[in-house]
Amino acid sequence: MESGNMRILLQFPEGLKRYALDYAAKLEADGNEVFISASPCYGACDLCLDEARHIRADKIIHYGHYPFIKKVLDIEVEYVPFYIDISPAVIEKLLSFVKDKGFRSISLNATVQHMHQFKDIVKRLEELQVKVVYKEGHLAAEPGHLLGCEDGSHFQEGVDAIITIADGLFHATAISKVPSVPVYVFNPYDGKATLINDIIKKRLRKRRAALAAAIEAETIAILVSTKPGQFSLSFALNTKKKLASFGKKTVLLVANELSPESVGNFQGIDVFINTACPRLADDHDRFGKPVLGMDLVGELFEQLSAMAPK
Ligand code: SF4
Repeated sequence: MESGNMRILLQFPEGLKRYALDYAAKLEADGNEVFISASPCYGACDLCLDEARHIRADKIIHYGHYPFIKKVLDIEVEYVPFYIDISPAVIEKLLSFVKDKGFRSISLNATVQHMHQFKDIVKRLEELQVKVVYKEGHLAAEPGHLLGCEDGSHFQEGVDAIITIADGLFHATAISKVPSVPVYVFNPYDGKATLINDIIKKRLRKRRAALAAAIEAETIAILVSTKPGQFSLSFALNTKKKLASFGKKTVLLVANELSPESVGNFQGIDVFINTACPRLADDHDRFGKPVLGMDLVGELFEQLSAMAPK
């Protein structure tokens, strides 16, 4: 089909929805029929495939993220990153921060909005004789790019500090091990650096508490999301089977959007096992019950095996 004669579904994460009407108007002016997804969108994992199928869209244009879903989809998806410049003054603040702290080597990463300046920032740091490490995470689109579901294992070795350039603490607090070096989030708008080691430790303590609760739990609900990049059906089914072999009662709860509201009215659940976005487990307090992440399910089984009568 000729571009300009398509039915296009536009999808924006929450922070970019304010620009949606302008983008839609431009595409309509080119002769396309345009829909905008009004569903919440939390990441590139969250493609609006169902809506696209219902309206028989020719393609989805997903703004604000790099490609995430590796499998071949039955609909064309164009990813359009949305870059936001870090001002020269704020870049200078970052350089001064690294210099003043005396860091000789750092692990640097950034959220997608700032990746267009990433290599330049690395170069500026290297000119100051700072060794900059930036590896590619298993979900990232390129080295240095950080997603909120990366466990941080690709950036925390052999450096003086880990620095994430991000507006907010969400992405950098995904680390799944207590880091042995300081971890900072550098705000790309005001140039302030926040040390987050204590926040990471607190988060990891909660995760361990969820593991302890799952060991003791009588009834466990396994959460399955139908969001395309979060759908882990086999993992959920295998987990259910294995939990049953340890005498646990289990139930599978499925929804596109899993939230404290969507699962809050079910009674008799002691613990949730989350197979969707790994950061859902951080909403422990809002869920009112422990939420165990997929990455700790293996350890849960090990501990249950060790406790099982021989
Ligand atoms: S799985 Fe969660 S953290 Fe990862 S991209 Fe999706 S919403 Fe973000």
